[in-house]
Amino acid sequence: MRFDIITIFPEMFTPVLNESIVKRAQEKKKVAIRVHDLRKYTKDKHKKVDDRPFGGGPGMVMTPQPFFDAVKKIKGRRKAKVVLMSPSGKRLTQKLARELAKQKNLIVLCGHYEGVDERVREKVVDEEVSIGDYVLTGGEIPAMVIIDCVTRLIPGVVGKEASLEDESFERDMLEYPHYTRPANFRGTKVPDVLLSGNHKAISEWRKQQALRVTRRNRPDLIKNK
Ligand code: SAM
Repeated sequence: MRFDIITIFPEMFTPVLNESIVKRAQEKKKVAIRVHDLRKYTKDKHKKVDDRPFGGGPGMVMTPQPFFDAVKKIKGRRKAKVVLMSPSGKRLTQKLARELAKQKNLIVLCGHYEGVDERVREKVVDEEVSIGDYVLTGGEIPAMVIIDCVTRLIPGVVGKEASLEDESFERDMLEYPHYTRPANFRGTKVPDVLLSGNHKAISEWRKQQALRVTRRNRPDLIKNK
């Protein structure tokens, strides 16, 4: 899978792409991630990529030309899905991450200021994606969220595939609690069942705990169960 990120702050990606699973996934050639500077594509002599909004109002709007030209050049002849990071987009869920993980080429556009000229969404973008109901300064952190959650779903990226199956949001449930050594930490003990070696009982306990955590923190996920 290949990601192409279009941004006015390419440097923001350097630390995130060079650590942990995302770094290893690139080393193992499971993903290729290219970050492009939007300003390289502007035809404005001062490298401007924004302008005042028609109709008035506060803030600046990102102009269409650099995005149109950047996507055209980067896409070339490849088939690629173009995603715009936007608070007005479809909410990112594990299900949507799985769908995105099926793509061969994903081009991600990062907005700034008041956002991006609507004609980019109309003519260039296939899907608008939001990472949650809050407003960030720019699309870079949302793009990193997509890179991370999609990359770890690509087969062979996360060591034990089984560990993905039990994760939060799979089967509309949150995950059960985890414990590690020591079995007794300053008087708080690990539940006996986890030390019992009885795998059936452990699996049942985990199911019950997942349900308990989901009811407590995200009852909306199980309203149909
Ligand atoms: N004026 C816009 C609004 O009210 O919806 C907010 C623009 S925001 C300050 C600038 C950029 O950050 C957006 O164009 C988008 O690329 C990104 N962004 C901010 N919040 C986001 C979110 N929750 N999900 C995805 N992208 C977001």
